Amino acid sequence: MAQGIPDEVIMNTSLMKELADVAKDVALQQGILMRIQETPNSSELVTYAPFTLFPTPVPKAVFLQALAVQTHYNTLVDKISQDPDFLEEALASTIAVDDFTGRLFRIHQQILKEGRSQSIVLGLNRSDYMLDQRNNGLSSLKQIEINTFAASFGGLSSRTPDVHRQILKMAGRLEESQRILDNDPAAGLARAVAKAWELYGSERAVVMFLVEESQRNIFDQRYIEYELWKRNIPTKRKRFDDVCEKGSLDQDKRLFVDGQEVAVVYFRNGYMPQNYPSEKTWEARLMMERSLAVKCPDISTHLAGTKKVQQVLAKPGVLEKFFPDKPQVVEQIRATFAGLYTLDIGPEGDKTVAMALAAPDQFVLKPQREGGGNNIYGSEICQVLQGVKESTERTAYILMDKIHPAPVQNCLLRRDAPLQISNCLSELGVFGVYVRQGKDTVMNECVGHLLRTKSSEVSEGGLATGISVADSPLLL
Ligand code: ADP
Ligand code: MG
Ligand code: MG
Repeated sequence: MAQGIPDEVIMNTSLMKELADVAKDVALQQGILMRIQETPNSSELVTYAPFTLFPTPVPKAVFLQALAVQTHYNTLVDKISQDPDFLEEALASTIAVDDFTGRLFRIHQQILKEGRSQSIVLGLNRSDYMLDQRNNGLSSLKQIEINTFAASFGGLSSRTPDVHRQILKMAGRLEESQRILDNDPAAGLARAVAKAWELYGSERAVVMFLVEESQRNIFDQRYIEYELWKRNIPTKRKRFDDVCEKGSLDQDKRLFVDGQEVAVVYFRNGYMPQNYPSEKTWEARLMMERSLAVKCPDISTHLAGTKKVQQVLAKPGVLEKFFPDKPQVVEQIRATFAGLYTLDIGPEGDKTVAMALAAPDQFVLKPQREGGGNNIYGSEICQVLQGVKESTERTAYILMDKIHPAPVQNCLLRRDAPLQISNCLSELGVFGVYVRQGKDTVMNECVGHLLRTKSSEVSEGGLATGISVADSPLLL
């Protein structure tokens, strides 16, 4: 088995404990922070965000492949968001049965009907991958999903390299410590936000972070805020309630919240049904969408990030439609697709159901949800599909091939958790940013990466859910 953690550390528990203690101090000093669960809205008590004791080996070729395809993914998301016919067709069966996606789609339609008031588009996304390594140690890069809404951990992942460098040095691995890559997604994300703010063109207007009720992960966002303040761009943190109570549009559709004009709305909240507890919250979302503020993401880009769209993109001929004269781009993107299967009503969907029931362990069943903890695995796939297989309800889901990375031994450091070695699986995220004004692409870049690692015993990842932890790639 490949190892993240050196043999001499595995053999020596007191050394491992010593390194873990230092690692936690370095993490705190570097600012890999999270508020504690008990008091998510106060910084009086904070702890380190969970992370791995050692970095995880990642083959260089696939890492570079993931970076290289990112600007094409940016372009793809942006093109989808500008193609209402495609979105309507792709999402038709889903919105008929999934209320949340349906509601988002209705906002999208209303905006189309009224006409978009803002031609500046700001995209901050993160494309996530796992390595399929069943084939004799060969690694094949497979996309898990692309997040176009509130893609997080660009801030904290800017701080992990130094922790892993330090631990490698202390474990006598100087050469490896020099191979840990610099990484600063927060700076890149902020650069794109700053560009959108500049194009909006009002010095007094703020970048509004639309934040969660429970703000445990505030430090991740603070890094982006500070990068903006460095450029003298004012930022404000507001919740849906603030926008409901103190938000309005003037006659030119300028958005004001609490008396302040908003140039950019950066959504870090609003991707889950429970983020919209009342009609008022939905009205606030609609108001922001209708406004002249630059939305990150706008409603159509939000929809472009759904799992149903991901599945439709994998159908033959669809990528070609978006890149008609760029076969190499099509090839590069398609190479990262895992098998994705429709559950639409019809013979193709029936085939998907039969395939999943015959070998549930080969697949993941996904509803249109974000934020971790929503997918269905193994025998539960059979239970769920047995229940919905004859009805349109099944179209709320898509089916995906399960990716099988080779486990790597590491030690996951978490507050109050015992120190132990686990078999781990990792997920690589790549951050992409773009800014468009009308027809002009002003910026399109890959700005960094995120490696998250979890125990192989749990199916789902998600740093915010506390299951996976921050890691650094050690290129092989
Ligand atoms: P979410 O939007 O909730 O993050 P994901 O599609 O990223 O949804 O799935 C959540 C987690 O489930 C991933 O981080 C990964 O750990 C696991 N997962 C998702 N799809 C697959 C897959 N095809 N193969 C293996 N694991 C998967
Ligand atoms: Mg997601
Ligand atoms: Mg995910």
